[in-house]
Amino acid sequence: MATATAPKPAKQLPLPNSDFFQFAEMLPDQELAIVKKVRAFMETKVAPIINKHWVEDSFPFELLPSYKELGIAGVGMNGYGCPGGSPLMVGLVALEIARTDVSFCTFHGVHTGLAMSSIYLAGTEEQKQKWLPPMARMEKIGCFALTEPLVGSGAGGGLTTTAKRDGDTWILNGKKRWIGNAPWCDISIVWARDVADNQVKGFIVANKTTPGFSVEKIQNKLALKVVQNGQITMTDCRVPDANRLQGGKGTFRDAALVLRGTRHGVGWEITGAQMGAYENALKYAQERLQFGKPIGSFQLIQELLAKMLANIVACQGMLVRSVQLETEGKLTDAQAAIVKAFSTAKARETVAWAREVLGGNGILVDYNVARFFADTEAIYSYEGTYQIQNLIVGKAITGLSAFV
Ligand SMILES: Cc1cc2nc3c(=O)[nH]c(=O)nc-3n(C[C@H](O)[C@H](O)[C@H](O)COP(=O)(O)OP(=O)(O)OC[C@H]3O[C@@H](n4cnc5c(N)ncnc54)[C@H](O)[C@@H]3O)c2cc1C
Repeated sequence: MATATAPKPAKQLPLPNSDFFQFAEMLPDQELAIVKKVRAFMETKVAPIINKHWVEDSFPFELLPSYKELGIAGVGMNGYGCPGGSPLMVGLVALEIARTDVSFCTFHGVHTGLAMSSIYLAGTEEQKQKWLPPMARMEKIGCFALTEPLVGSGAGGGLTTTAKRDGDTWILNGKKRWIGNAPWCDISIVWARDVADNQVKGFIVANKTTPGFSVEKIQNKLALKVVQNGQITMTDCRVPDANRLQGGKGTFRDAALVLRGTRHGVGWEITGAQMGAYENALKYAQERLQFGKPIGSFQLIQELLAKMLANIVACQGMLVRSVQLETEGKLTDAQAAIVKAFSTAKARETVAWAREVLGGNGILVDYNVARFFADTEAIYSYEGTYQIQNLIVGKAITGLSAFV
């Protein structure tokens, strides 16, 4: 006799999880709670509005008050009103931000990792006391001005912006290009060549109150559109000697030290981007039907998803080991460079595969993969291109420099 049966419930599919090897569990509970808070902020506040801003090339200023409440400006730095935190947490915070939006992570990275770190690593005690607390409170937002219109990869030896001492002040002249946050932020860390000793020195410049300092927003980008990049022009800008970074070596080594940390940070950022693209592609594959079945049930789509996840895990594993080295004070320039080169190259594969999984919808911003696809191109080139990172690695492993 046939018995009536309840309709079979739809199969519960696993939720996308790009932390496949549970790296976040390595954090102590207190730090994990901060990372989860960042994830909640990104998912509830940033995700709903970010596509609109991306399309319109605008920065979501309305999010700054709630970002400030997260208390992560200056994360990883101790004292001076900064929140501290282990290198692993610093990395996972960046990863979580980028998992929803890479531009927002760049804004965070420029303010914290580049501008604040420059003062933290190369400033005097007095300079740290003066500048870092208002930056940690987000009352002053910073940028990092190294690249010039005619000098990008060759910044180490070729900077043309000049600094000339005149009594208790310095006179800065030159142009800086691509500077993230510059069109609206408060202070710039400007790297300029001292005409007296030919060494590159860092200066803290007040953007809005220094005569001769002007910024033009760079238009028509097709990547990281939410970040506002600027071209800075400095014409006889007078900066007090008290604003020259004097706690480091007073050479390009100061900028290089900051970049060692942030290149490694870019590895976290681009791995977060891969995670965001992968999770959105996986969700899509679970829901999108073709030939009467979810496309996620097709072998060739599963292969793409598995390859994306393997890229992500490889990058996460490399990053976790490098934060261990960083914690022990042993991370080298070549190690930071290999992380940046490898993770950005893998990311190009991952986001392209994610885009492919979405078919035509992969090129629509609304489906939350196209933005990662485009933004990855900028990350591949900024803070030292793929080629330059590999030259740093090549020099370390061969003992021979290919730099001209
Ligand atoms: C979105 C975005 C945000 C940025 N934000 C900032 C910022 O906030 N602050 C800042 O100071 N800069 C910033 N930059 C600048 C960035 O760091 C530079 O774009 C990057 O260092 C490359 O410089 P370039 O664009 O001048 O390229 P170039 O140096 O002109 O390089 C062009 C090509 O030549 C290759 N190349 C150059 N030299 C060699 C060599 N010796 N051997 C082999 N290949 C070589 C490069 O790898 C690249 O493929 C940003 C850039 C972008 C795109």
